[in-house]
Amino acid sequence: MIFGSTRPRGARRLLPLALACAMAGTPATAQLPSLGGTGDLSVSAERKLGQQVARQLYRDPDYIEDPVLDDYVLRIWTRLMAAARARGDLGADIEDRFAWDVLLGKDRSINAFAVPGGWLGLNLGLISATTSADELAGVLGHELTHVTQRHISRMVADQNRQFPLMLAAMILGALAAGKNAEAGQAAVVGGQALAMQNQINFTRDMEREADRIGVQVATEAGFDPRGYATMFEKLQHASRLNDNGAFPYLRTHPMTTERIAEVRSRLQLAESGAPRPPDVVHFMMSARARVLAEPGVDLLRSYVAEDALRPNPDQRAREAAALYAGALAHAKLRDTRAGSEVAARLAQLVAGNEEAMRQVRLLAAEIALQAGDVQPAQALDPARGRPELMLWAQARVRGGAAAQASDRLQTWVALNAKDAGAWRLLSQAYAAQGQALRAIRAEAEAFAAQLDWQAALDRLRSAQELSRRTGASGRDHIEASIIDTRAREMMSLLREQALER
Ligand SMILES: [Zn+2]
Repeated sequence: MIFGSTRPRGARRLLPLALACAMAGTPATAQLPSLGGTGDLSVSAERKLGQQVARQLYRDPDYIEDPVLDDYVLRIWTRLMAAARARGDLGADIEDRFAWDVLLGKDRSINAFAVPGGWLGLNLGLISATTSADELAGVLGHELTHVTQRHISRMVADQNRQFPLMLAAMILGALAAGKNAEAGQAAVVGGQALAMQNQINFTRDMEREADRIGVQVATEAGFDPRGYATMFEKLQHASRLNDNGAFPYLRTHPMTTERIAEVRSRLQLAESGAPRPPDVVHFMMSARARVLAEPGVDLLRSYVAEDALRPNPDQRAREAAALYAGALAHAKLRDTRAGSEVAARLAQLVAGNEEAMRQVRLLAAEIALQAGDVQPAQALDPARGRPELMLWAQARVRGGAAAQASDRLQTWVALNAKDAGAWRLLSQAYAAQGQALRAIRAEAEAFAAQLDWQAALDRLRSAQELSRRTGASGRDHIEASIIDTRAREMMSLLREQALER
């Protein structure tokens, strides 16, 4: 899973290799459980292990909830899942019980990783390093395949089926180590975990299988398989650039070259078609990832400058990316007026491309909302998609029409109960209308959606307290009984969690 890094790092004492799928290379020393071993984790055991990891990832300061990128990545992810389903790779048991959710991280390192239980971690650094949806689909298809082929279960079961909690800690420790050495040290429990950490790896056979099936899944989902090969080459290149001694396992990797060759040879038939033109929308999304990856003021200024220079005026996609990054960087530097101006220029450039125009409307609405102007966001169609809904609802709450926002959001969460961001916004919409009980419950649901059952229970208890004090009546009476039910459910989940330790 750890693909290497775009930024040089100092002393990195731990190999960031837990569950490493290492598209950029498998360490030669990997301890390899064999394919087809008999010790597989059950679907529900893997799901529980994944919950422990995902719960921490949601709380990680690097976790970012961005409706625009979430929507973009999920659309690719959903197409890949449909292709896997059509191939018969997505059994009903894992389809129903796994999460199939993508968690974005602000980290600028090029990384993506499959978490047990069907969560996928994806760094903004990786999105910003891709130049087409095909490349991104290649990475996601590879990771999806690790999940659908139950590689994680086989590996984890062979490693240590007795200590799921320790395994979760090890996975998290390795993920943290991928960010910086200090955090990694803190997250790893004890020397034994440290020693075992380097052994949690997919086998070469698993990597080959993820390559072989992953590229098929991406192709059958309608993506250009050549994206898979170019992504590999890019990752190998990035790892070479960063070969400063901090990446001993990346220094020599015949494995990587071998795997690129294998993928290339498998693609030979596909090579005959004409290359696809640059995708303006992907360039814009990649630019968004670059700006949101907390690049610091200096880099933001350089994006603003890049917009001013626009070195490749003949390449419309690159120009669109530069304008998109420039507009968003202006806004991040609190110059929303300049941001809006650049967004308007972007609109002229991509006029006629409906999906690109959709992204420009969202960007312009986001920047205007930041400046306190609710009009552009209120003009969005909340039925168009989740990014529109979220901006529109924020604008309604701030524009004194919170009841409209809560009506829409209530309908949305009825269908998307795991949408923490929508629950949180719904909580604000209720609070704005003085509906304290509903606001607190919606907040509790946001915590529950991100697997923080203790925080959810705390909110539900304070809602029960409030209900007792004020004496619920009418619609609030129904709400109060839902709150009681949910509180019991949270207690039961917490008891179950305690037993796993
Ligand atoms: Zn892999």
